[in-house]
Amino acid sequence: MASRPTLLIVGGGLAGAKAAEAARAGSYEGRVVLVGEEARPPYERPPLSKEILRGAKPLDSSRVREAASYAELDIELMTGTTVAALDLQGRRANLSSGDSIAFDTVILATGAAPRPLPFAGAQLSGVHYLRTVEDSASLHDAITQASRVAVIGAGWIGSEVAASARQMGAEVVLIEPEPYPLGRVLGDEVGQVFATLHADQGVTLRLGIGVTELRGSGSVEQVVLADGSVEAADVVVAGIGVAPRVDLATSAGIKVDNGVVVDDLLRSSAPGVYAAGDIASAWHPHYKRHLRVEHWANALNQGTAAGANASGAAQSYTRLPYFYSDQYDLGLEYVGYADADDQVVIRGDTGKREFIAFYHRGGVVNAALAVNVWDVIEDLRTLITDARPLDLARMADPEVALTDL
Ligand code: FAD
Ligand code: NAP
Repeated sequence: MASRPTLLIVGGGLAGAKAAEAARAGSYEGRVVLVGEEARPPYERPPLSKEILRGAKPLDSSRVREAASYAELDIELMTGTTVAALDLQGRRANLSSGDSIAFDTVILATGAAPRPLPFAGAQLSGVHYLRTVEDSASLHDAITQASRVAVIGAGWIGSEVAASARQMGAEVVLIEPEPYPLGRVLGDEVGQVFATLHADQGVTLRLGIGVTELRGSGSVEQVVLADGSVEAADVVVAGIGVAPRVDLATSAGIKVDNGVVVDDLLRSSAPGVYAAGDIASAWHPHYKRHLRVEHWANALNQGTAAGANASGAAQSYTRLPYFYSDQYDLGLEYVGYADADDQVVIRGDTGKREFIAFYHRGGVVNAALAVNVWDVIEDLRTLITDARPLDLARMADPEVALTDL
């Protein structure tokens, strides 16, 4: 009897777990082996900066599925195991355990890792990064005992951690080199809304200024800024972005350029090797360029598509990027992909934090953000995929239904 083919999935995050499920749903007949470096079975990360960080939900509450159910699906889950090297010629993967696995097809879903703080004092105790359940648990304990929390970087991690820390009653300073929180992604006008949101909640904002050094004897005590001023802090949270974990792909000779380069079927430059989630720089048929998207829905849906395609389907991955965030009582959803120089049209009231922002070029909407406005994402998605130039005044007018634009 011929031996069963093997689909090896590297990375036990959301993308990896969804790829394994999809391979089984697609009736892949061989072995499906899911190898993850973390000790826990795959889990979702969004609650790590929100409910789990605040202690409002248990650590294990964001599992993708129950650990026992992988075996029920005939998925061989190997936790606490790193894939150290891939031999694409010999079709064999070396594991940190010293064992190796023969494979036919591989899906890379190794995700991303936080960028380390690039200045002196980053090694002091009291400096935290946030990627794993363990990071979230340790940060929870630290915030509970902190005199003052300094959050460096007002991107997604920084904004959500600042909000959670305030909700936990901590004193918080949020430091960001750009003029506004989230300004690079959402633009200055919308970034201003988030600056006011945090200020209204009692966060001290140090915007438009970088950090040069952390000081302390053993553990962190001070954050030094570029103008020489000092912010006291006994807990520092780094949220200055992530880097895709491409080492395995690079050393296997797979094409990497800001992530593993894949086509719209999520195929890499190497035959039989796919990539999905934070690590994948995927050709997007709508935007006609490669996009690397670091959000939950992308891991969920791209993982599923990669698992299906690795099992014989040929699904072009055409979904528009989508993400959400919660900060205090503000909820947002975002769909599409905006360029830094896209124009912004606002519909609604930024003062009340209830509005839609359209990011467009010549009236053609590339992306849209809905802040405390619900059930509009499908309409916004349609406007983006239609790619028709829209009338800017009507776009801004809440009396005109989105479906009538
Ligand atoms: P990852 O989640 O990074 O998983 C990759 C896994 O692969 C990791 O477990 C890693 O240890 C493992 N691995 C790496 N290399 C190897 C190897 N060689 N061998 C074996 N295993 C390996 N997105 C949103 O849209 N909304 C949110 O509200 C939101 N909140 C977030 C909050 C936090 C705190 C964080 C960190 C992220 C958040 N995100 C959010 C982003 C979202 O969680 C990520 O986009 C998503 O986790 C990416 O999934 P992934 O499977 O591609 O990668
Ligand atoms: P991020 O969203 O890329 O934001 C990083 C922020 O840090 C940016 O504002 C950046 O400013 C700033 N920064 C960069 N270098 C700095 C420095 N030396 N000092 C101070 N600030 C600096 O990344 P993140 O917030 O760290 O999040 C990590 C990952 O988790 C991302 O993939 C993110 O998408 C994901 N995540 C998503 C959500 C969500 O979707 N709701 C929530 C949490 C996390 P510049 O813009 O000037 O570079």
